[in-house]
Amino acid sequence: MIDPFGRTISYLRVSVTDRCDFRCVYCMAEHMTFLPKAEVLSLEEIARLCSVFIAKGVKRIRLTGGEPLVRRGVMTLFETLGARLGDGLDELTVTTNGSQLARFAKPLAAAGVRRINVSLDSRDDARFRAITRWGDLNQVLHGIDAAQDAGLSVKINMVAMKGVNEDEIAPMLEWAHSRGMDMTLIEVMPMGEIDGDRVEQYLPLSVVRANLARQYTLEETAHRTGGPARYVRVRETGGRLGFITPLTHNFCESCNRVRVTCTGMLYMCLGQEDRADLRTPLRASNDDALLRAAIDEAIARKPKGHDFVITRRQKAAAVPRTMSLTGG
Ligand code: SAM
Ligand code: SF4
Repeated sequence: MIDPFGRTISYLRVSVTDRCDFRCVYCMAEHMTFLPKAEVLSLEEIARLCSVFIAKGVKRIRLTGGEPLVRRGVMTLFETLGARLGDGLDELTVTTNGSQLARFAKPLAAAGVRRINVSLDSRDDARFRAITRWGDLNQVLHGIDAAQDAGLSVKINMVAMKGVNEDEIAPMLEWAHSRGMDMTLIEVMPMGEIDGDRVEQYLPLSVVRANLARQYTLEETAHRTGGPARYVRVRETGGRLGFITPLTHNFCESCNRVRVTCTGMLYMCLGQEDRADLRTPLRASNDDALLRAAIDEAIARKPKGHDFVITRRQKAAAVPRTMSLTGG
């Protein structure tokens, strides 16, 4: 799959559910209304969709959500996709809040998952609770232990929030790197309606990076994933630190990815509303021809880039759908 700007699409993110056992303040309102079941693709439908994407050249698949590991039976999907590793698929990964990892780390490793991303915005109990509203820090920390015990390589994702966890960035980095985990910092993105005010939460990573650079030697690396992260190596810790800066940097020129929501909508760009309905062709026929045609048509209109903005005047979410629907 090659888009109009010559970018080869080889990476697919699939949101397997919009549901979650946390209610992170930047992601969801506390009283979220979730989608009716009939609208959400079955695990079999997701597996079929992924297999069509693999046939079309997708080499890496990341399952996300919502919280992917709270979807009932999700391990069967990992197993089905894991069976394609070395048979069209190079890598199967997951982004998780870690709450279910104590239970699922071993089965994930057995299914062929080698690397996972775990979101962790604070290592302070009360703060963790304030950010996630419903999360239990200890459960997540045990989950991370279990993942490392199972041999999974763990990367920590931390959303940087002004006045909320700013002071924990350096300690988190030290902790993660001391345990052999890379870390990625994420800027708050204007997605979905939430209860709070994003202008208040927004902390430009350019500022964070400048602050870290006073304390650490940040060495540029050539490491790229085709995604929005830019990585440095921290000389003092020996670990890698990524910055996902959709608002202060344009990361679109090397974008190799598309996203499918749990309702089967294909988004060609995280920051644009244009989408293609894959659920209709998926449910219309057992023959994949319609589905393949719908994907081709969508890739042919993948946009050049996004236009996220957070300003004082424009407080409304630039993209009305939440990250949990689209899959972060
Ligand atoms: N529930 C899983 C988790 O939290 O890792 C997977 C889905 S979550 C939507 C994926 C990532 O998106 C998490 O690292 C989360 O912190 C991040 N995220 C969610 N909403 C965001 C927002 N508005 N801006 C920036 N990052 C966001
Ligand atoms: Fe759930 Fe992840 Fe969104 Fe937090 S960021 S509410 S854990 S989907």
